[in-house]
Amino acid sequence: MEPIPYNKPFLCGNEIKYIRDAVKSGKISGNGMFTQKCQRYFEDKYHYGKCLMTSSCTDALEMAAILSGVKEGDEVILPAYTFVSTALAFARQNATLVFADSRADNPNIDAAEIERLITPKTKVIVVVHYAGFVCEMKRICQIAKSHNIMLIEDAAQAFDSYYDGKAAGCFGTMATFSFHETKNIIAGEGGMLVVNDPKLYSRAEIIWEKGTNRADFSRGKVNKYQWVDIGSSFLPSELTSAFLYAQIEKSGQIQLKRIKLWTLYYKLLKPFEDKGYIALPFHQPEATGNGHIFYIVCKNSKQRKKIADYLGEKQILAVTHYLGLHKSPYFKDSYKGTPLKNCDKYEDTLLRLPLYYELRLEDVKYICNTIGDILDYLNIK
Ligand SMILES: *Cc1c(COP(=O)(O)O)cnc(C)c1O
Repeated sequence: MEPIPYNKPFLCGNEIKYIRDAVKSGKISGNGMFTQKCQRYFEDKYHYGKCLMTSSCTDALEMAAILSGVKEGDEVILPAYTFVSTALAFARQNATLVFADSRADNPNIDAAEIERLITPKTKVIVVVHYAGFVCEMKRICQIAKSHNIMLIEDAAQAFDSYYDGKAAGCFGTMATFSFHETKNIIAGEGGMLVVNDPKLYSRAEIIWEKGTNRADFSRGKVNKYQWVDIGSSFLPSELTSAFLYAQIEKSGQIQLKRIKLWTLYYKLLKPFEDKGYIALPFHQPEATGNGHIFYIVCKNSKQRKKIADYLGEKQILAVTHYLGLHKSPYFKDSYKGTPLKNCDKYEDTLLRLPLYYELRLEDVKYICNTIGDILDYLNIK
């Protein structure tokens, strides 16, 4: 058996061709034909407001944090069980980070926790759709609306995920996506900001283009472009968007395969959940997954280590995930909240299994058999 990695970037075939097209066109900086094709695709297919391609989801989150207008003294509620970038963008605006716990039944932020943490200073709620399963948006949108708090979705993992028939990225005032090589569709490094509030469209473009009104200039609306606001160089070059466009064209095929692999994992591991050995992913009934991550929740960190080590011996790479941000070296001294027991639980027990386009169905069978062997062994002993 060849070793089975955790992830393997998939090339759809037209990436180099489109990059060559971009080079030949003579326009390789940002906001050219491929950037606009990508943006239009997302706006049309998923009914997003305005889409702006970025160099990463981290950049898109930074734009969202700037556009949200949060400043020192304002509070931002966000999950502790997430990637650093979710927090980083708001920390840079000097906002007070208020970390919320995950649900007991899945790693997404718990709506009851959000309600518990709201104060008159709360300006933004950030949700992360972990593993591509959209959070309990019905309740979270109601909470945000009733308290008049801006909602932002870190949808880095939620490309082509749905909740109640609506795509991830449609729920927040803004949403951010990632096309990092570990995600479902990729551009090496890449991301996108979705802006759903038309009042923010024009400022979003300015921040995107280094604080200038260059986008209006390109449209012929002004005859000189100038420095009009803060911003940065958030836009990707045409080479990145050309690569991504090749992935977009094949995204239907990628999604089908990933969901097939995910579903097979679920089916083959279900008997072990039924025996009470491990837990499988649980999600809101309204949420439809996108086959981004398949994870198991082990009984404790010891059991997880034994499973991961045994898989390692069999050349299968399974990996843990986040360490709670509230306990991170950078933040722990500033953390004023209560212990977050569900976040701690996932930190100790969640194990991600290999999932990528070129993984074969027989690989999944082999991985599940191997997990079955170690679980039976551990439970007979
Ligand atoms: C991947 C990821 C990011 C960061 O995306 P980049 O494109 O690498 O900046 C942010 N948040 C979450 C939840 C992620 O999974």
